[in-house]
Amino acid sequence: MKWTQATMREVAEEERAGLDLGPYDTFDPYALCVEHGIPVYSIGDLPGASREAVDHFTRIRTGNWSAAIIPAGTARIIVENPAHHPHRRRANIAHELGHLLLEHPFAEVHLSDSHAGSFAANHEKQATFMAGELLIPQTAAKRAAFADWTNEQVSARYGVSTQFAQMQMSGPRVYARRSRARQDSRR
Ligand SMILES: [Zn+2]
Repeated sequence: MKWTQATMREVAEEERAGLDLGPYDTFDPYALCVEHGIPVYSIGDLPGASREAVDHFTRIRTGNWSAAIIPAGTARIIVENPAHHPHRRRANIAHELGHLLLEHPFAEVHLSDSHAGSFAANHEKQATFMAGELLIPQTAAKRAAFADWTNEQVSARYGVSTQFAQMQMSGPRVYARRSRARQDSRR
């Protein structure tokens, strides 16, 4: 399947609708995991994870490692690093769900330092795009842009970091600026 931004947006919209969410509602990635039957484990609770591995991820590598979706037979599980801020964890889970929803094939999967090692680079971009659309759909981002919401306001409303808000708002803000400029020139 060759994904375009339009088809990825459709998938995100359907998934949100499946949770009874309208375009402006706050998305709970953990609820979507439940919907898809994907258990989410903290790295410390992962059955079979060695003490060493847990220490590695939660202490030594806290800054690097965020989450991974892992095949378990035909099923999938998500393992996350609970040391991160809830806003970041929500984005991490949404990103992993992006891989699932777009049916990205796994490369050799292990809990490597680099999550990117598990998926192709273009798939990484797509999963991040999906996280954006799941957490702040374009319709919501545009409305926030026209209302001149700051990144802090978007962050508080949608439960994302201000960096994530900035990422998702940059396009819609340009759109809102241009749209206003066009309107002004008509006056
Ligand atoms: Zn990824």
